[in-house]
Amino acid sequence: MRLRTDLDGIPAYRQGRSAPSGAGDVLKVSSNESPYPPLPSALDAVAEQARQANRYPDSSVSALSSALAERLSVPDDRLVFGAGSTESISQLIRALAGPGDEVVYPWRSFEAYPMLIAAAGATPVGVPLTPDHRHDLAAMTAAVTPATRLLVVCTPNNPTGTTVSRDEFRDLMAAVPDDVVVLLDEAYRHFDIEDDRLDGAEEFHRYPNLVIARTFSKAYGLAGLRVGFAIAPTTVANAMRKMAVPFGVTNLAQAAALAALNARRELEERVGALVAERRRVEEALHRQGWRLPASQANFLWFALGEATESAAAVFERHGLIVRSYPGEGLRITIAEPRACDRLIETAQALADAGLDNALRSGAVVAPD
Ligand SMILES: *Cc1c(COP(=O)(O)O)cnc(C)c1O
Repeated sequence: MRLRTDLDGIPAYRQGRSAPSGAGDVLKVSSNESPYPPLPSALDAVAEQARQANRYPDSSVSALSSALAERLSVPDDRLVFGAGSTESISQLIRALAGPGDEVVYPWRSFEAYPMLIAAAGATPVGVPLTPDHRHDLAAMTAAVTPATRLLVVCTPNNPTGTTVSRDEFRDLMAAVPDDVVVLLDEAYRHFDIEDDRLDGAEEFHRYPNLVIARTFSKAYGLAGLRVGFAIAPTTVANAMRKMAVPFGVTNLAQAAALAALNARRELEERVGALVAERRRVEEALHRQGWRLPASQANFLWFALGEATESAAAVFERHGLIVRSYPGEGLRITIAEPRACDRLIETAQALADAGLDNALRSGAVVAPD
């Protein structure tokens, strides 16, 4: 057997750890999932579709596609679906880039970017975040070369929660050559409540080289069903469809996503409650002396550097499984109030132990 030799350099995806079985009362806040179970309407839709699971799904995703096209005011041929927006991003990368091509992306950011770029045979060009954990847009623009096919923007950024404002984004689009596609990954957009927040669906009409990625996994709470989509210009959308796994989005996922999309009021309530929890936790942590980057997502970033792994162990002793990036920091999901209470308690214990000093060493800019 002869495997592709370039695969050796690609790390495997690391999923946020689950609570070990028999661990007792341990809460998983390591994957930015919604703490809410699917709405009854989504569960009914899944049950209904399950009865016809002997049939292949609708490969054109027609009902969900029409509903989204209307909601977003885009023609439905610009929508391309995937098994989660991770698949949409994979389709886009493979449609645009192969050996010899470069893809520019922010780093630290979504762990899948460098993997998917390398899996396509293209060259990942990661551009470090600024010291205050934001995209370094000037450095990203400067990293564009004639070999660049795609530039990725993730806002709010996973795992730091920081955003790219509308004006910053428009300046970036003006600086990037028209033949380079820009991907705007908006997985966490519902949690962004800033006045100058970007809305990719609006920006889409302004630029011929812009692709938006969105998911039903986070605010809509359907991570286990795998459905996401991209909004892309016609030529790019058609190329992405060629890269899609046939029948990759099940009828269960399509029907649940449509039900979730139609439950606007419930979505707003759930997002509102999580944003309120985020504010409560941020205020408590601020009183404890922590200086974290202000988050517009459903998670917080603790840039603990060398103290990361010992802090992760302390969180675990307090019944929270967090996402650890050894040597860099911890990402902790804002979940149910009980999980947030534990987060606040543990943060106090860490502050008492002086671990928050890592954040006071000047590496982090205070939110105020
Ligand atoms: C979670 C996430 C996605 C999408 O996840 P799917 O479950 O594949 O839809 C995309 N981008 C970022 C940055 C994410 O954190």
